[in-house]
Amino acid sequence: MLLADHHRQFQSTVMRLGEKVIAPIADEVDRTDQLPLDVLDQLAENGLVQLVVPEAYGGPGGDLTSLCLGREAIARCGSMALAQLVGQNGIVAYPILHFGTEEQKQRFLPALATGVLACVGLTEAGAGSNPTVMTTRARQDGSTWVVNGHKSFISYGKAARYCLLFARTSEGKGARGISAFVVETDSEGFVEGRHNDKLGGRGIPNVELFLEDLRVPAENMIGQEGEGFAAAMRALHLMRPPIAAIAVGGAQAALDYAIGYARAREQGGIALAAHQGLRWMLADMATQTEAARSLLFECARQIDAGLPLDQIATISSMAKWKCAEVAMGVATDAVQVLGAAGYMRDHPVERYLRDAKLMAIYEGTSQIQLNTIARGVIG
Ligand SMILES: Cc1cc2nc3c(=O)[nH]c(=O)nc-3n(C[C@H](O)[C@H](O)[C@H](O)COP(=O)(O)OP(=O)(O)OC[C@H]3O[C@@H](n4cnc5c(N)ncnc54)[C@H](O)[C@@H]3O)c2cc1C
Repeated sequence: MLLADHHRQFQSTVMRLGEKVIAPIADEVDRTDQLPLDVLDQLAENGLVQLVVPEAYGGPGGDLTSLCLGREAIARCGSMALAQLVGQNGIVAYPILHFGTEEQKQRFLPALATGVLACVGLTEAGAGSNPTVMTTRARQDGSTWVVNGHKSFISYGKAARYCLLFARTSEGKGARGISAFVVETDSEGFVEGRHNDKLGGRGIPNVELFLEDLRVPAENMIGQEGEGFAAAMRALHLMRPPIAAIAVGGAQAALDYAIGYARAREQGGIALAAHQGLRWMLADMATQTEAARSLLFECARQIDAGLPLDQIATISSMAKWKCAEVAMGVATDAVQVLGAAGYMRDHPVERYLRDAKLMAIYEGTSQIQLNTIARGVIG
């Protein structure tokens, strides 16, 4: 893929860093399921965690193309899990940037620009694909909101410094009545429960959250009361292409590994890579990966070129859906190319397969992406 000079330079810088600090620990992070804090610090020192925070607020001001290139590069270096750390705090920075007041931008963005982690508290046990049925409630008490509820499957939890937390503040139909707040995770009443044991994406903490009389200053509400959900969701559509980017990087890593293995291994005096059946499989994997990459970077290009936020849902969902499906297909085929070896933990392709599955579940499942696409193209 042809890139502008500054994007190509950024991509090579992240690749170099990824080869140096991510590739050597990718397997261990998967086994221990521990967030490597020293690597997180190095990514933050290089401006990667805070990539999308604008220069005006002390950040590097990376565009969506850079964010996708950075995530693709880290995933390609062997860790789809740690690729999430690139532009990680965009999940809170983007909603503040698009729907926060200038006072909120001045208060939160310079802190995010230091590279602290952020999290989103949306999903509940009974409210996943349709979060509007959430039961977490906030009631106003003078100049604060008092939040009570339980959130499930929340990435990072208290490892994050800020949480974009959703709660119902008034009765309303669907999304109406749900507000969004930026909460400091060390606040009293922001309580972390069980750490979930995951199939993939290991190394990134995932927790249950309990909100117990959590008091949030009224000035931390993002957007209008009762309108925050709809607003924040529009900004969070910007985080779908970066998931697609992890998927593309993971597919490329699986493909590269499978090609290397097929060249090196012989059966009956013939290299695996000489069998037409496997050659076609690898050719198909390469083509699927390149097609997914093209859709992803076309999506990023359109958004960077100024596609309005209320029009990005369809293309963002197309990129996330397609790239997630391709990652799963390519990782499955990579395991097949390696045969029994591919099924063992001695090779990374089984990990890529486990990590690829997540791409079709979080930040909206593949079915929800298809619903969004159908709404966009059919009505
Ligand atoms: C590792 C991990 C990290 C996560 N991190 C976060 C986080 O940081 N913050 C957060 O808030 N959430 C997080 N989540 C939650 C995630 O966003 C939800 O799991 C996801 O939205 C799906 O919700 P659910 O699991 O309740 O599935 P359900 O909604 O119960 O869906 C079950 C199945 O039904 C399908 N389905 C549901 N509704 C429809 C429909 N209308 N049409 C067609 N099919 C449908 C789904 O696609 C899925 O296949 C995370 C999840 C995981 C696994």
